[in-house]
Amino acid sequence: MKLTKLDKKERTVVAVGNVMIGKGLVVIAGPCSVESEKQTMETAWAVKESGADVLRGGAFKPRSSPYAFQGLGKKGLKILKKAGEETGLPIVTEVLDPRDVLLVADYADMIQIGSRNMQNFSLLKEVGKTNQPVLLKRGMNATIEEWLNSAEYILREGNHRVVLCERGMRTYETYTRNTLDLSAVPAVKGLTHLPVIVDPSHATGKAELVSPMSLAAVAAGADGIIVEVHINPEEALSDKEQALNPEQFSGMMHKLRPLYQFMSGLE
Ligand code: PEP
Ligand code: MN
Repeated sequence: MKLTKLDKKERTVVAVGNVMIGKGLVVIAGPCSVESEKQTMETAWAVKESGADVLRGGAFKPRSSPYAFQGLGKKGLKILKKAGEETGLPIVTEVLDPRDVLLVADYADMIQIGSRNMQNFSLLKEVGKTNQPVLLKRGMNATIEEWLNSAEYILREGNHRVVLCERGMRTYETYTRNTLDLSAVPAVKGLTHLPVIVDPSHATGKAELVSPMSLAAVAAGADGIIVEVHINPEEALSDKEQALNPEQFSGMMHKLRPLYQFMSGLE
């Protein structure tokens, strides 16, 4: 029997620091990349003030071009950890290489497996051997079955602390960066006991679409969202078109929590 399969037992709640994913609505926010201590710290405080639960930020960046900013690596992990400690927010960051899993696990409260690595089976097995919570993004070309099989690789190694993340898929539409498959949220919640969150930033690639799609994710039953926020989006070193500024993030949060409350009241 598959370990991710929903049976009669309770739904999984994944503890990330003191934040419970799978219980209530969890908001993960922060920059695409950790660029500097100042940028990370200011963004961390801004998202915390607006009610984010977890801080995100990339130290190792999977970039389409080898000439684009690749992230600060270990230095980025240190900055992120400091920002997490100072604000009290648990941190999530991506690992790209099986050789870096223990290093990232040492700094982060949650390890992210990005879309491009969803079927990097040696990486999945390596994070499966740790006891760290894992945020498993859906591959941009992956079916739901392939995505769940990737989760299976992690659980099979003994790590059951997996959160799934829908982040949009490649379609023939080019106006948006990807096409957000929101039907995956209720579909996957019906198939597995794992929490499911949505990334409207990478799904749309456009800042103005992030708030509407976050609200739609909540309406679809997501356990949370992960969004990119930058203190000054125009100056972001990666994904600047999709980053919310702190004001936009705050505006979105004012709608998101009430919508979640309303949805909970209907159950
Ligand atoms: C990210 O969240 O930083 C990221 C690179 O996302 P994805 O793997 O979904 O493209
Ligand atoms: Mn990004």
